[in-house]
Amino acid sequence: MQWFGKGSGNIEDRRGMSGGTVLGGGLGIIVVVLGLIFGTDLTGVVNQLPLNTGSQTEVKPTDPTDAQGKFVDGVLESTNQVWEKQFQKMGKTYEEPILVLFEGSVQSACGNASAAVGPFYCPADHKVYIDLSFYNELKDRFGAAGDFAQAYVIAHEVGHHVQNLLGISDKMDKYRRQLSEKEYNKLSVKLELQADFLAGLWAHDAQNLKDFKLEDGDIEEALNAANAIGDDKLQKQAQGEVVPDAFTHGTSAQRMQWFRKGFETGDIKQGDTFNFEQL
Ligand SMILES: [Zn+2]
Repeated sequence: MQWFGKGSGNIEDRRGMSGGTVLGGGLGIIVVVLGLIFGTDLTGVVNQLPLNTGSQTEVKPTDPTDAQGKFVDGVLESTNQVWEKQFQKMGKTYEEPILVLFEGSVQSACGNASAAVGPFYCPADHKVYIDLSFYNELKDRFGAAGDFAQAYVIAHEVGHHVQNLLGISDKMDKYRRQLSEKEYNKLSVKLELQADFLAGLWAHDAQNLKDFKLEDGDIEEALNAANAIGDDKLQKQAQGEVVPDAFTHGTSAQRMQWFRKGFETGDIKQGDTFNFEQL
């Protein structure tokens, strides 16, 4: 893909800062590692943990000057433009998320997180967190190379932000307390597949932005990434067997299917991966 437009103005660059923490002395809350790889869903953890209020000073958003930082910034701005229009259509106002670049570990309103959890979205502070070294892992360990695989990661996390703004994350929280782990995992899969759908929808709509250009092979790169990080594939690699009850993100086939559905339809109404009323 190519982005010819301006940056988002919403990048909080905490790279090079120790622990991604601006001021020390806060409550050190360790976020349980819920997933192996990006999409780690901190929804639900939020309401169970006290917030680190008072221990964190905002880092002023800056415009990254390095190539990778600029790329992420451009992707983020394209998601802003896409979702602003989509929210307008729904009669709502889109609130832009902040994207935090960090190295090693980071403090969020959802607790402290190590880069090992992969990129994540924290519903409590409306921020997406990413250590860019994850992109090396995506390429080398999971065989998902390409700029659009990287863009898909951002679009997926922004998808969680959209879910948060639409109140879907709150509903998840409510059910989290009522369901067994096995049942909740099923719900988690639906949330994650919807984030994949929303990423596909972004790719669909971004093509209409004047500063965005989709290139040959881009969609294949995103689908390849979705395929590489399906629960069945990851479980097979890690433990040699597949345990469907422990799925939290969906199979490779499901992840590809929902991304593709968002991309092909461009219709947010097609993205109902779950029906809360039926639970
Ligand atoms: Zn996710």
